[in-house]
Amino acid sequence: MKKKQIAIIGGGPAGLMAAETLACSGHAVTVYDAMPTVARKFLLAGKSGLNITHSEDYERFATRFGGASDRLRPALDALTPDDIRRWAGELGTETFVGSSGRVFPTAMKASPLLRAWLTRLETQGVVIAKRHRWIGFTDGGLVLETQGGRKVIHPDAALLALGGASWPKLGSDAAWVPWLRQRGVDTAPFRPANCGFDVNWSEVFRERFAGAPLKAVTATSAAGTFPGEFVISEHGIEGSLVYAHAAALRDDLQRDGAVSLLVDLAPGRSVERLAADLARQDRKASLSNRLRKGAGLDPVKAGLIRELAGDDVLKDPQQLAARIKALAIPLTATRPIAEAISSAGGIALEAIDDGYMLKAIPGIFAAGEMLNWEAPTGGYLLTACMATGKAAAQGMLAWLDRD
Ligand SMILES: Cc1cc2nc3c(=O)[nH]c(=O)nc-3n(C[C@H](O)[C@H](O)[C@H](O)COP(=O)(O)OP(=O)(O)OC[C@H]3O[C@@H](n4cnc5c(N)ncnc54)[C@H](O)[C@@H]3O)c2cc1C
Repeated sequence: MKKKQIAIIGGGPAGLMAAETLACSGHAVTVYDAMPTVARKFLLAGKSGLNITHSEDYERFATRFGGASDRLRPALDALTPDDIRRWAGELGTETFVGSSGRVFPTAMKASPLLRAWLTRLETQGVVIAKRHRWIGFTDGGLVLETQGGRKVIHPDAALLALGGASWPKLGSDAAWVPWLRQRGVDTAPFRPANCGFDVNWSEVFRERFAGAPLKAVTATSAAGTFPGEFVISEHGIEGSLVYAHAAALRDDLQRDGAVSLLVDLAPGRSVERLAADLARQDRKASLSNRLRKGAGLDPVKAGLIRELAGDDVLKDPQQLAARIKALAIPLTATRPIAEAISSAGGIALEAIDDGYMLKAIPGIFAAGEMLNWEAPTGGYLLTACMATGKAAAQGMLAWLDRD
């Protein structure tokens, strides 16, 4: 096959995995990115421990993408969690399985892995053009804004890997949505995923408990009941257990205008046992002391009960026990998408063919978080971004080879 010019727009994990897949094809591959350095979100993800994939049974893993699971399956089959661990190992980053089954680099950070990855891509001949912002189409070409002014490129094929709409300051600002819509590409509105929620905390509660973790609780929403922990924030609630419920809570909020997260503050103890233990407490003791001694609640859990339960409930051991086991935290809104870990929405999966090419724009492919799928935290996001990057690159190779 004659050497072709390939443009990858967006140097996040999806674009870089596509570049790696294409680099071995003998074509000229250039990755264009708007920012002064690539993969900023990947690096940020590594700040709190890069959860690169998950070790659970693969059949379970492959269902974590909700309604998009079947559509993503071939891409995931071709880059499985084991493949990702092997790939990281080849780049000098060994991984380990944490207690929750999540997979992390032993160094926890993303920077050594990214450094080795970029070096290998360079050795493979991939050119990385930073400060090149794609700003739309012109007749038959892609317009890029660079420090030296505008330029138009006419690659034989291009792959868009521009990310979703969370943390726009790291590069993925979703500015591309109208450009693709004008060309007939169907997109779903972006919405926060793996996000926190607003709660109307009282001033007293916010001042005392913002930043405090609620540990060893279970929470229930339409998504199910999961154990874990979350944090009281200045605006409401945040953290891994909240993110696990975020998609269901967000959808219910949007549909009904109101939703609550139901929290069990004392899992493992029955209502009856709690009620009996609370009834035994000295009635003259403070509520905090009764909750600590009778129910084992720490100050933040006791504070939450006091914040959300009325006086009648607080006085009655039976009602108090029931509330400890099922405390409804009323949520008023999702936190803004700019703060979310990831986003739902983007290019409709129906708008791409099996090779990840935009049906409306032949020769232009798309991958990563800019496609309309979502998943909980747990390494699913990075795995699917890299898997779709690889699948789109393979789709592009097949398309280039079609003649
Ligand atoms: C705080 C935080 C922690 C996270 N932790 C994890 C984790 O532990 N595990 C996990 O699986 N996921 C995690 N994620 C999510 C994960 O980082 C993203 O899902 C993933 O980075 C998306 O990859 P992507 O390649 O699709 O897009 P991105 O990583 O967003 O990359 C898109 C790239 O496109 C570039 N770009 C955008 N527009 C243009 C344009 N017009 N022209 C040129 N370039 C452009 C951007 O500059 C950027 O470099 C985390 C996210 C956040 C915010």
